[in-house]
Order: sequence, then structure tokens, then C-alpha cells
Amino acid sequence: MSVTYYDRKVPGPSRTPEENEALCREYPFLARDGSVDYWTYEDGKPIDYTYTWEDQLEPGWQKVLAPQMWAELKEILERHGCLNTFRFMSIKEKWGELNMFYMGVPQEADDDVDAWRDKYADLSKTVCVACGAPATRAVKWPNWINYLCDECAAEWPFKSEPIEEQKA
Ligand SMILES: [Zn+2]
Repeated sequence: MSVTYYDRKVPGPSRTPEENEALCREYPFLARDGSVDYWTYEDGKPIDYTYTWEDQLEPGWQKVLAPQMWAELKEILERHGCLNTFRFMSIKEKWGELNMFYMGVPQEADDDVDAWRDKYADLSKTVCVACGAPATRAVKWPNWINYLCDECAAEWPFKSEPIEEQKA
């Protein structure tokens, strides 16, 4: 039986530790030390390559947004000389949108990094969180919303509506 997005309760490792190590060499800000979030980091704890910050992304976002998103962030951080001070504090989905929190950005780089974050928050709502296809439907709960394509929305046990109607 294939695992659908709905079955996937927590983000999980999508690559081997070797692949993650290579990814973190390219994008050092994706490395984690096995802590749940920034607040539980311990100084000097070795990096845990079974997991990266990319695993926090919904599967559709990981597939469609991740490669370009990390390359753009790296370019911005290198341009401002803060590739080694930047750290993610949290990456999560909220109200159907990609939320990213970070620290270690000098004041002069704030605008560029925040613009990068906002761009991908907007883009995240146009991509099916489950498969990465263009999002066409919104699945709603009282306190929760996700954007999905027709096919993935049909697999969910919750009611959905076309996105166009949302905006009207
Ligand atoms: Zn889909």
C-alpha cells in the first residue's frame, strides 16, 4: 500500500545520510544536530545527517520549491557574508503556507532574506503540498487549510473547494 500525504503524520527523512551530508556541504544552513528545533540545540553536538531542515518541508514543496529556494538563499547569504551565521530556528506549514524562522542575519541583509522568505511563502500556496502539482483546491478545517491539486484533494477525507472561489 502506498503512503498518501494524509498518512504522513510527521516529516521524515527523504534521503540517505550520505546524500544529506552532500546536501549540507552545498547548503550548510540545512544541517541539524538532531535537536527538535533551535531552542534545543546544544553547542558542540555533532551534526545528525539522518535528517536536514529540508525534511521539514511538505513533500510537494520539497519536490518543487526546494532546489531553487536553497540556491537563492545561499546566493543572498554569500553576498552579505553571513552564510556561516545564518541558522534556521523553525520551518513549518501554517494556514497552508510555508513558514520559515531564522536568526544570524545582519541588519543590512534583513530585507533581502525577508523578501526571499515572503516570496516562497507566497509560492508555497500555489503548489500542491502532497505532490507538487499546481494547487487547484483548498481543503479546509475550522483551524486549518491546505492547498492541493484535484487528484490529491480527492484522496483526502475532507471537503475541498476550488481556490478561485476562495479569492472571490
Ligand atoms: Zn497533488
